[in-house]
Amino acid sequence: MSQCQTCGACCAAYRVQFSVYELDDMGGAVPVTLTETVNGSTCRMRGTGEVPIRCVALSGSVGTGVSCAIYALRPRPCTELQEGSHACNKARQRHGLPPLDERPEH
Ligand code: SF4
Ligand code: SF4
Repeated sequence: MSQCQTCGACCAAYRVQFSVYELDDMGGAVPVTLTETVNGSTCRMRGTGEVPIRCVALSGSVGTGVSCAIYALRPRPCTELQEGSHACNKARQRHGLPPLDERPEH
């Protein structure tokens, strides 16, 4: 089972920024109502541009049990962040969670 369901640290550690072309009103999938504008070409998930960082789409408690309200529609930074990667373990460390084994390079 994925560790992500009991984690969520990366959804509460980084600015989640991506192209406006990923927004549902621009032909993409991400609900525009859950985002805010960064500039003309970039937007981000609401809640990830402030401190403490926590994406508006995240529900539950980090490190215990979480879910993403837009999992199937989530933007590229979320689909690209690999479980067990450096960015994953850095986020987990920030939330006092132990590192996961590094996945083999591919
Ligand atoms: S920090 Fe890693 S384990 Fe936690 S939710 Fe993100 S990818 Fe999954
Ligand atoms: S959109 Fe979902 S996966 Fe991406 S940061 Fe927000 S809660 Fe996490």
